[in-house]
Amino acid sequence: MIYLDNNATTIMYEEVFNVLKKYSIDVYANPNSIHEFGVKAEIALEEARFKIAKLMGVMPYEIYFTSGATESINWAIKGSVLSKQNIGKHIISSKVEHSSTINTLSYLEKQGFEIEYVKTDNYGKIDLEDLKNKIRQDTVLVTLMVANNELGTLNPIKKVYKIIKEKNEKTLFHLDAVQAIGKIDFRLKDFKCDMASFSAHKFHGPKGIGFLYKKDTALIHPLITGGSQERSQRGGTQNVASIVAMAKALEISFEDLPKMENIKNMRDNLAEQMEKLGAKIVTPLDNSTPNTLSAFFEGLRGDVIVNALSDEEIYISTSAACSSKGTSGSRVLKELGYSSKASEGMVRISLSALTTADEVQRFINILKKVLEFLRF
Ligand code: PLP
Repeated sequence: MIYLDNNATTIMYEEVFNVLKKYSIDVYANPNSIHEFGVKAEIALEEARFKIAKLMGVMPYEIYFTSGATESINWAIKGSVLSKQNIGKHIISSKVEHSSTINTLSYLEKQGFEIEYVKTDNYGKIDLEDLKNKIRQDTVLVTLMVANNELGTLNPIKKVYKIIKEKNEKTLFHLDAVQAIGKIDFRLKDFKCDMASFSAHKFHGPKGIGFLYKKDTALIHPLITGGSQERSQRGGTQNVASIVAMAKALEISFEDLPKMENIKNMRDNLAEQMEKLGAKIVTPLDNSTPNTLSAFFEGLRGDVIVNALSDEEIYISTSAACSSKGTSGSRVLKELGYSSKASEGMVRISLSALTTADEVQRFINILKKVLEFLRF
């Protein structure tokens, strides 16, 4: 098989799986138990927090473990606006965010919050001037993605924090950093924000585990109330094995970053070859995560191409994995003004540090045959 759907999820690194196994079988104690076995698990948990914080360039007490980015995003958004209701109810985001943001915001809109969406260019990159104009004294939160999951487009995040804080220092800034890790050199010490959300399975870690970075000055309400875990900010027994495995995955992902240069060359070359087969490339090759390539073939449906390739054991996707089961096409392309035909035609190919040139070449050869068959 050839797996080119790495924006949906990634294979676990073997070393990560070994860590997961060890902490599931050998060190399975509850990290909150006071006996020695529990303390052993607690030490592993805190070492993982320390490792993640060090890699990210922040303090360990600013890292909170969650069940993944969807929970982190819900916490960051709902927790911020609930804690700042006395200041205002105005939130800024963009229309091309992941559904975990979009649907959280539409839920809040129904509760009486005012949501404004910043303008983007044709690739989904936010307009900084428009953002500046939209920030008001009652703006409590700006939430934006670093890299778009469907197109790979990168936002000019390094400039955003300054713009927000100059306009209103009380406005919190949250980043959905899910698609940045392992693809670009994303460290919180360089990308200033108040909060940021992460999911381990996007960087070769286990599924159902992630973390929220929350600056110590960002005082937001908890989302999951319960025990005193995570400094009483997120109740529930921590998933120690997955957390330790996630820290290992993050470490290897950073070590693997230099491979992304080659992955970008492979991706750019693939774009060229696909254009020769009639593809209209929608990913901005000069401003995107190096592994992502989205395109559409006029007159062909994306789901038909994906299914035909799937019969050949080649796995790509039409759009975001969580919404690709519907047949309505790419929501992001629609938001960017593409026709519904283009949106329904979209296919997303996403490589990882482990993708080989041979796999990409075999993919293009089979795609050629599949297109000939479908166009016949
Ligand atoms: N944000 C982005 C940009 C994503 O791509 C995803 C997953 O596809 C998420 C958030 C949600 O991550 P998870 O499904 O792991 O909670």
